[in-house]
Amino acid sequence: MKVVLIGIGQAGGKVTQALVEFDERMDFGAVRGAVAVNSAQTDLQSLDLDTVLIGQDRVKGHGVGGDNELGAEVMQADAREVMDSIDGRITAEADAIFVVAGLGGGTGSGGAPVLAKELGRVYSVPVYALGVLPGRGEGAMYQANAGRSLKTLVREADATLLVDNDAWHGAGESVGEAYDAINEAIAQRVGLLLASGEAVDGVAESVVDSSEVINTLREGGIAALGYANAKADPDSAENVNTVTSVTRKALLTGTSLPDAVTAESALLVIAGDSDRIPRKGVERARAWVEEETGSMQVRGGDFPLESDHLAALVLLGGVERGKRIEEFMERAREAQKQQPDDGDPAEQFKNEEIDDLF
Ligand code: GDP
Repeated sequence: MKVVLIGIGQAGGKVTQALVEFDERMDFGAVRGAVAVNSAQTDLQSLDLDTVLIGQDRVKGHGVGGDNELGAEVMQADAREVMDSIDGRITAEADAIFVVAGLGGGTGSGGAPVLAKELGRVYSVPVYALGVLPGRGEGAMYQANAGRSLKTLVREADATLLVDNDAWHGAGESVGEAYDAINEAIAQRVGLLLASGEAVDGVAESVVDSSEVINTLREGGIAALGYANAKADPDSAENVNTVTSVTRKALLTGTSLPDAVTAESALLVIAGDSDRIPRKGVERARAWVEEETGSMQVRGGDFPLESDHLAALVLLGGVERGKRIEEFMERAREAQKQQPDDGDPAEQFKNEEIDDLF
């Protein structure tokens, strides 16, 4: 799938840069353009990407703090400039646009839904969000911001692929210490998903096509991605259990959103050397994904790669009814109640639902 990436805010910029570097290192050519947008000038300076500074008249390059309403406002005010900066990059060959952001901060949290809406108005290709959800240990402000941002993003983007900051970092590391490792994991896993259907030599019928990613995300809502890999035998017949076990791990312990299992739709991609991929293993794994997710729409395909490992990527669409999201939204509601109100006495009579950002 050929994509254009727009990273917003600090996390958005860093994750975008990691995705660009992974795609270049692997020589996939899936990332066709990338831009980083921020209201904080120093965060842009550390990136090796084309950049757009927004909100200069309001915050003078100093960022919006954790104020995601201000983040939404400055993106709205400067949307034209941001849209102009990507105009030449979204050519006929782009299959999708990804807006990348941490949902717990200010600029990315507020700016991503605004930009997703603007992009959706102008371009006919799908506009997806890649959102980083704050970990459980991050403060109330992050949870409250992410709740509002997510609610609005789900409305504005064609689908929102979520990565929980608790999901892909090593045991014993705090989220902060683990940023680089998490970003690298996101780059590798999401990068492989984007590249599947791109780097295909000797196209066999079993090879995954990038339109299957789009079809899996067609229902909209929240998506998650699972990943696991293992060393494979040169003889495919020996790898039947390897394929089923990496698929189980990808879905049960390797997802970007822990506990997201029940899904509307799924795509199982087995990446590795074609000669090592056993058809029987792939069929069994796919039947297992069908049973486990309860989805009637499980697509599948191979991603041929030179490697002595086999990897399973499981893209899940429509996971918003899962336990993890329910638990997160509850936390976000609680956090929003704890936020100081803006002094309007009518506010206290407001219902307890999470507010939209705009
Ligand atoms: P913004 O610059 O105002 O958009 O704010 P940030 O991008 O710093 O958003 C804060 C949220 O993103 C928090 O939940 C942080 O834990 C998370 N975050 C910040 N930097 C990174 C990063 O490099 N990687 C990851 N995975 N999360 C990050």
